[in-house]
Amino acid sequence: MDFQSYIKTLNTDVTYIKGVGEKRKIMLNRLSLYNVWDIIYNFPKDYEDRRTFVKICDAKEGERCCIKAVLSSFPMQKRIKKNIVLCALPVNDGTGVIFVKWFSNPKYPVKFDLGAGYIFYGKVTKNFGKLELEMLEAERADNAENVLKIMPVYHLTKGVTQKFVRGTVKNAFDKFDIFYDIFDDFTRERYSLCSLDFALRQMHFPSDFETLAKARERLVFEELFILQLSLLYIRKNREQKTTERVRDISYKEEFEKTLPFTLTGAQQNVLNEVLCDLQSEKCANRLIQGDVGSGKTVIAAAAMYVCVKNGFQSALMAPTEILAVQHYETLKKMFDGRVNICLLTSSTKGKKKLYEAIENGEFDVIIGTHALLNDNVKIPKLILAVTDEQHRFGVNQRSVLSAKTKACNVLVMSATPIPRTLALILYGDLDISIVNSMPKGRQKIDTFCVNESYRKRAYSFVEKEIEKGRQAYIVCPLIDESENLDVMSGEKMFAHLANEVFPTRKIGLLHGKMKADEKDKVMQSFKNGELDILVSTTVIEVGVDVPNATIMLIENAERFGLSQLHQLRGRVGRGEHKSYCILFCNALDNEKTAERMKIMVKSSDGFEIAKKDLELRGFGEFFGTRQHGLPTLKVANLFTDLEILKHAQKLCYEVLSRDPNLKHTQNRLIFARIKALFNKFDGRDIFN
Ligand code: ADP
Ligand code: MG
Repeated sequence: MDFQSYIKTLNTDVTYIKGVGEKRKIMLNRLSLYNVWDIIYNFPKDYEDRRTFVKICDAKEGERCCIKAVLSSFPMQKRIKKNIVLCALPVNDGTGVIFVKWFSNPKYPVKFDLGAGYIFYGKVTKNFGKLELEMLEAERADNAENVLKIMPVYHLTKGVTQKFVRGTVKNAFDKFDIFYDIFDDFTRERYSLCSLDFALRQMHFPSDFETLAKARERLVFEELFILQLSLLYIRKNREQKTTERVRDISYKEEFEKTLPFTLTGAQQNVLNEVLCDLQSEKCANRLIQGDVGSGKTVIAAAAMYVCVKNGFQSALMAPTEILAVQHYETLKKMFDGRVNICLLTSSTKGKKKLYEAIENGEFDVIIGTHALLNDNVKIPKLILAVTDEQHRFGVNQRSVLSAKTKACNVLVMSATPIPRTLALILYGDLDISIVNSMPKGRQKIDTFCVNESYRKRAYSFVEKEIEKGRQAYIVCPLIDESENLDVMSGEKMFAHLANEVFPTRKIGLLHGKMKADEKDKVMQSFKNGELDILVSTTVIEVGVDVPNATIMLIENAERFGLSQLHQLRGRVGRGEHKSYCILFCNALDNEKTAERMKIMVKSSDGFEIAKKDLELRGFGEFFGTRQHGLPTLKVANLFTDLEILKHAQKLCYEVLSRDPNLKHTQNRLIFARIKALFNKFDGRDIFN
């Protein structure tokens, strides 16, 4: 097959494959398999080793195995429903007897020949002391090569059988003599990768587990390479766009002088990098990573200030209303009347007037939520768009704000610090700056993990802190009442605390279902010190800054991820007062939980905690579904395949430095792949 027809075939609808008609097409579509390519890249979720027979006398309950036996009787049948009969067939292989059982439709009976040898594959169970084999497959022994293999196990959906998917995959492969490789011989040798053709066939029809591992490694490499390259390519394209330049950065000193503290060295470094971006006409996209409380906001504020003083506008987008309001207040105070600043969220009244004012340039700094992305918001002199706590926004959303003008610089502040290699792929379209130290004088937050028996003591400790004039957070995991576990919901906890535990204290409640302005009101009164205790679900999680709060008490801590706990803990210890974090955990007899809690008690380093969190929970849970805004990975695991990722990244840089536009003939396949990846991902072409 020549290259053109190869590409065409891959993109052809599944009905192109033998045995797939309109009916089966619908079934495959339900598995998100639409074209030949999808079928080829639909890798098994598991494999079953059926290479050897098990003697009946050795069959163990709970195991899956192949048994070879000669038939000496016909199956017994018992109709249990109109269309279902239960069949049972005692078979003997000379070492013992086992009852092979299965359900079948009387209209399509399974045919067996007496005296012939058969191979049965199934799961061994025990019924009243008798061994049974729940049959999954049966084949005549003369067809042994169809059964005695490592069998792929695919994801299924209603009405789709393993046999059908396996057959379809096989028929799809029969259409190809060879799969064109995106890597040449030289590259493959250098990274010891097997060929694509070999790898793909091995994934579906493995000859043994060692070879399968090599095949997988090759595909992981390829997948990470393509993803990383896409992101770098997007970045490069953006950088080719130009923006207006900020000329005078001396306003930085002017801004610093008005701050109540001096910037740390780390803040200075990052700020300088940002200012460099602003002075260049290249369109910059930068990620600021830093631990909780490392002071990222002020860096953004300084940059925004410099922009304004040079005659431009800048904007800051936060993921929640609470954070947007908080940033608005903080920046307003910092700018102290020297900058015109406004707030735009979904609950803002008189939007139309505000839109006009923003467009007319009456406001220099615009703070808001997603509401900023509304088409009616026009920011003609926008030069810097900042997004806070960015993991909640996807790759494309990151830059939407910058589409408010021809082109502008984008600054993203991350909520969760993550290891650098990982950041490179998750934020591969961004340059990265790290705020690698904390402001001076921060005291360590003492963290305790306790069980129920400490509850009284914990509450009296909270009482004492309030006595001293401090404030406390009490966080409950977000739950469904219907879950009916021994977990308290925010509302119940609130009632209990307000009526029974702290009857003389002022307590507020904050949860996700409240209206934005209600949340605001509660948050505001906590900030103003009118509330002693804030009971909250995790809406409080990111960014909130109340320096007078010194206690973070977390219920059912085992239900949170470590990075999330670290974020929550970061809500205290933000002022001059000694602060504490109390983790209530009743699952300490669980080894994994105990280990996780120990890390929280010991470490206060967000990067280290994130790494452990990833290690213990795996990538999927760490980031939640799609939270990182990248396409899902089919073979690679960003944690366990970190070493492969490093090599793939190295190759990416080399390829791009040799062929920045991916126009060389040998890179045309690569280009097709990165285009396909992101087109399919969200249906938008981000390559123009
Ligand atoms: P984060 O990086 O978690 O977003 P913030 O920007 O909210 O942190 O800053 C945390 C707190 O530290 C704020 O109250 C801020 O005013 C204060 N802060 C920031 N930089 C410094 C500094 N250099 N010295 C002292 N306090 C600082
Ligand atoms: Mg912040």
